[in-house]
Amino acid sequence: TAALSIRNLQKTYSNGFTALKGIDLEVQPGDFFALLGPNGAGKSTTIGIISSLVNKSEGDVRIFGKDIVKESSQAKQLLGVVPQEFNFNQFEKVLDIVVNQAGFYGLSKARAQTKAEEYLRKLELWDKRDTQARLLSGGMKRRLMIARALIHEPELLILDEPTAGVDIELRRSMWAFLQEINAAGTTIILTTHYLEEAESLCRNIAIIDHGTIVTHTSIKELLKQL
Ligand code: ADP
Ligand code: ADP
Repeated sequence: TAALSIRNLQKTYSNGFTALKGIDLEVQPGDFFALLGPNGAGKSTTIGIISSLVNKSEGDVRIFGKDIVKESSQAKQLLGVVPQEFNFNQFEKVLDIVVNQAGFYGLSKARAQTKAEEYLRKLELWDKRDTQARLLSGGMKRRLMIARALIHEPELLILDEPTAGVDIELRRSMWAFLQEINAAGTTIILTTHYLEEAESLCRNIAIIDHGTIVTHTSIKELLKQL
């Protein structure tokens, strides 16, 4: 089974605007996949639907074979999402934000503590564990979102423009971290509007424009065509 399978996905928002016009997408287990497209193409809408924050109008989405609507709790266990906007409580402390997330996935307290420490150390946030999130830099907040998304060790990690607004040095260390997670077996999908980012990190790619997938290929093939 595919890590992510999307069939004929359509989304028309309540104002009548159609953001997705029937997209098909398949991402295999272990892949590092880029969803590339300009602003407004439909990337965040797609991720919103996969993470059940946005209702689809039409179509099917499965995570490792689990239908995100009919088997939503199983699908959610398999999925970690890093949305673009910071959506944690800014007044909560870093460690609490990560540990409390574990509660949604039924992890024991002890397990949550161990995992939170592991990921906060890897993402160089352990020294900030008792700091309120609002006091972190933008790059630290982004890393906090990643640690939180990984707490239940999802099989599939999806990141929406993870390095937007992040300086080049931090971007490279985030790339290295994501490559490490991928090498350890986690399937990763990221959205980006930089071809360079997709090229540096990803094996396969889909290009989305105006709510339609225009290309679905390997990075190698794409670069040959350019
Ligand atoms: P749905 O069709 O899924 O019910 P809504 O149309 O109700 O979604 O919009 C959800 C939220 O997105 C609302 O809070 C709305 O203000 C906001 N929103 C509206 N237009 C846009 C837009 N062009 N880009 C991003 N967010 C928008
Ligand atoms: P991307 O992530 O690729 O920049 P989005 O999925 O955020 O694209 O947006 C796709 C299109 O849908 C855009 O034209 C955007 O303005 C529109 N859109 C996003 N959210 C809403 C909403 N809640 N209501 C109406 N239109 C929306």
